[in-house]
Amino acid sequence: MSVFEAMAAGGHRQLVFCYDPAAGLRAIMAVHDTTLGPGLGGCRMWPYAGEEEAMEDALRLSQGMTAKSALAGVNYGGAKVVIWGDPGRDKSEALFRALGRFVQTLGGLVITGTDAGTNPEDFVAARWETPYLVGLPPAYGGSGDSSETTAYGVFVGIRACLEEVYGDGDLRGRRVAVQGCGKVGGKLVRRLAEAGAEVTVTDVDGERARAVARRHGARVVEPGAIYDVPCDVFAPCALGGVINDQTIPRLRCRVVAGAANNQLAEPRHAAALQDRQILYAPDYVINAGGLIQVADELDGYDRDRVMRKTAAIGPMLRAIFRIARERSITTLEAAEWMVRRRLAGAAALRTFYRPGDGPEPGGPPPAGGEAPR
Ligand code: NAD
Repeated sequence: MSVFEAMAAGGHRQLVFCYDPAAGLRAIMAVHDTTLGPGLGGCRMWPYAGEEEAMEDALRLSQGMTAKSALAGVNYGGAKVVIWGDPGRDKSEALFRALGRFVQTLGGLVITGTDAGTNPEDFVAARWETPYLVGLPPAYGGSGDSSETTAYGVFVGIRACLEEVYGDGDLRGRRVAVQGCGKVGGKLVRRLAEAGAEVTVTDVDGERARAVARRHGARVVEPGAIYDVPCDVFAPCALGGVINDQTIPRLRCRVVAGAANNQLAEPRHAAALQDRQILYAPDYVINAGGLIQVADELDGYDRDRVMRKTAAIGPMLRAIFRIARERSITTLEAAEWMVRRRLAGAAALRTFYRPGDGPEPGGPPPAGGEAPR
């Protein structure tokens, strides 16, 4: 697929290749949709096999950010930055400053921060070059680790799923299987156990799984066995693509609801889950807590407001489930419909002129003779 074909297929608007040989930087900034506002999305650093893989990742991830922001009730568009490099070997002050300079050239169109392979400290150097960053360490005005907020949103979302399936969101006696005991998974297990759920955990790092299990009274299974655990909720909190043709027939749960991004190997797997009467909480809806937190930094960070907005993931999921039921569509299709509806509503606002939107009467002509917006 050519670059333009790939952009057309995903509905992307801008793809910026950034190269600074002295700093060792090769990065791609993808802007998907800016109907709601500037593109907000993390910066991933990964040793991609090639530039095509890096570009595809940037395109796919930025598209996901549009949907995530639209349903998280924040006013940002979808963007993502990827650095083609090895996070264990290629990081330097110069690399992140160079990245900051490229972010600055877009004048605020893209706002970025931590993602897989980068951490808040990396962006301290980038901050010298641009203010268009979120998720810096608290000592530099950032809101810090977002995994607690993400775990809270997933917890609230699981309750909404149980309510939909059983008519009651109470976790007492409910069985939850959590895949991945990392930053989010570990905190989710704590919340579930405190609420009275019977939790089974797994992690490729066996010691991590055992430590979380000891702390919260959970049971541990081997990573490959988690799909076969009879439970009410399967919560993927590790990798993407875990809901696929091989795993779906093995699932013995009523709900799939977890933190991992891109849980479905392909969109059609939403229908495959529905065929087996398994309720799927679209990942970009239930895991939006971290985005809500970093977006709030741009309004002057307020922890209570962040938790209130994250709690709204529950009602949002309930609305998605209702639409899916009423229209006999999947929960993923219902979420996509709600994304389109929010974007269309915001786009329609621009048909009504607001002072500040365009050239003022008597003001200078628009640059380059461009037609007023
Ligand atoms: P993390 O790296 O801290 O934890 C992931 C855990 O999964 C690790 O303990 C790892 O050993 C384990 N793991 C990896 N492969 C596994 C496998 N095959 N089976 C079992 N365990 C496996 O990451 P995290 O921050 O907890 O994020 C977890 C997921 O949630 C990721 O998909 C991430 O993209 C997504 N997410 C995170 C946030 C956030 O705020 N951190 C926000 C939104 C989405």
